[in-house]
Amino acid sequence: MKFKMPELPYAVDALEPSLSAETVTTHYEKHHRKYLDNINKLIVGTAYEDMSLEEIITESFQREVDEGIFNNAAQFWNHNFYWMSLTPTRKSKLSTALTKELEDGFGSIRAFADEFKTQVKKLFGSGYVWLVKDEDGALEILSLKDAECPLVHHKIPLLCCDVWEHAYYLDVKNERERYFENYWSIVNWKFVEKNNKENLYNPEGRVILHEDFMGISRGVNLGFS
Ligand code: MN
Repeated sequence: MKFKMPELPYAVDALEPSLSAETVTTHYEKHHRKYLDNINKLIVGTAYEDMSLEEIITESFQREVDEGIFNNAAQFWNHNFYWMSLTPTRKSKLSTALTKELEDGFGSIRAFADEFKTQVKKLFGSGYVWLVKDEDGALEILSLKDAECPLVHHKIPLLCCDVWEHAYYLDVKNERERYFENYWSIVNWKFVEKNNKENLYNPEGRVILHEDFMGISRGVNLGFS
């Protein structure tokens, strides 16, 4: 087994009542783990076997024939990121610096939250809504279908919301907006902040996600010059 399941950074019932223990357990133990099992199997004996997870994602995205590898690798990575985007610490607050950056990017914190919520409601079918930063440092809310992740679009992910039905159906059935409100109350702004501050660009355009990113990130070349 090349890749391993990262441990959840909190107990399965720690996000209640926003996310139930049943939802967290099913999402983590069934869905997330399945993507891990699949990618570990799919890369055996292929050129992907010796690559980092991020390299597998960016390389396989360019080859239609490797769609299955891309989907499972990206879904494994996306879920690692999703769990880190949440925290039971309900007092997680935006810092002054991040507040200023979000105000500059979206007009106000309210406008940023409204735009994020609109994208969550609007995304048709399955996917994720991301807060990302581009190579010029501009913040953007990105809505991506299915397994697609910001790395393949040369964007730095700061925050993600999983809007596949399995993320909320057990708790709120088809009420995605209610899921969003619950999600928003447990966003880990410290994680957002850390992604924003500590993504390092080196001269080869390599982005190193910070170390405590579930201990699995080894950086990825996003092709920045
Ligand atoms: Mn999911």
